[in-house]
Amino acid sequence: MVRIAVIPGDGISHEIMPEAVKTLETAHELYEFALDYETYDFGVEHYLKTGQVAPDDIDDFITGLPSTFDAALFGAGGIDPRVPSGESAQVVLRGLRRGLDLYANVRPCRLLNDDLTPLKGKTSDDIDFVVIRENTEGYESGTGGTFKVGTPLESEIRPEHNTYAGVRRVIEFAFDFAEQRGRKQVAVAEKGLPNGLWSRLFEVISAQHPDIESRHVHVDTMAYLMITAPELVDVVVAENRAGDILSDVGGAVQGSRGLAPAGCFNAEKDFAYFEPVHGTAPDIIGQGIANPMAAIMAAKMLLDYKGHPEAANAIEQAVRATIDSGTVTSDLGGSSSTAQVGEAVREALMKNAGR
Ligand code: ATP
Repeated sequence: MVRIAVIPGDGISHEIMPEAVKTLETAHELYEFALDYETYDFGVEHYLKTGQVAPDDIDDFITGLPSTFDAALFGAGGIDPRVPSGESAQVVLRGLRRGLDLYANVRPCRLLNDDLTPLKGKTSDDIDFVVIRENTEGYESGTGGTFKVGTPLESEIRPEHNTYAGVRRVIEFAFDFAEQRGRKQVAVAEKGLPNGLWSRLFEVISAQHPDIESRHVHVDTMAYLMITAPELVDVVVAENRAGDILSDVGGAVQGSRGLAPAGCFNAEKDFAYFEPVHGTAPDIIGQGIANPMAAIMAAKMLLDYKGHPEAANAIEQAVRATIDSGTVTSDLGGSSSTAQVGEAVREALMKNAGR
């Protein structure tokens, strides 16, 4: 049984998430795993109905999710012009990340079709790496603040707050991930103090994994490598901000942000959440042109996580076949709508299964 809390959130989420959910339903019919899901409208929809983006007990609701569900499928939280107060489903995201302590944000970057990458001469043999972004600390620690706001002496402190335990566990997660997936190398990408937590702990933990090659790379050099020599990049573990930026570079070399999925884990918990890497895309809300493939690939990751590799692989094959057929949204150079792409993926899924 796969039990999912579906929380679309803000912005284009209400256009892309239905396609991901319908794809899961088709996969469930074809591959005969039990599926049960509940949709929660926190974010813009909740705001339009109640004037609040989420109920007052949202934090308790989120920390209670693992008692009812195996996983959550989240869309995006952030700017949505329909919420003038500026509030957003970020409260849900913070709960999923920090409330549930899902500290390892795994963002695979694989080229699904050689024609999509803007990198000259690179193919799917060259572009196949994974960014593991620390998801609970760094610049999102919330430990900064402002002072004398609105005066000429206004100041702002935005620290990158990392803890020994937090850095250690995400680096350990990256090495375990590399071992389990048969990956050859783990690189740490950061730009901290020369002998700071990240570099020291990386050295200690890499020494415990002699079979995996390890590299310390500054985040700027890593961004450069992803573009100039992606074939040298394998598993990258990064502090929160660096990981966010690098996974957008990953989205770009894949051909679009609209293709990149993510899954967020805690090695000691039986609950994870999955999301597209992209945000709310405020510039295209309501136009029906958002690419649903990142959300569909997030659903695919969820099925992998729940032990349904056959259905998960079939979804990926269907996405690839849809790209090959040219039924793609404008971010990939096509003219199809969100709904047409979703429909094409489901048709390819059924065709692959002989239906
Ligand atoms: P966040 O701050 O929430 O991380 P962001 O700043 O990364 O968000 P996005 O919301 O991801 O920004 O959007 C950035 C650009 O990418 C926009 O121009 C948007 O139109 C485009 N974009 C994002 N997601 C998609 C998608 N699924 N399909 C098509 N275009 C997209």
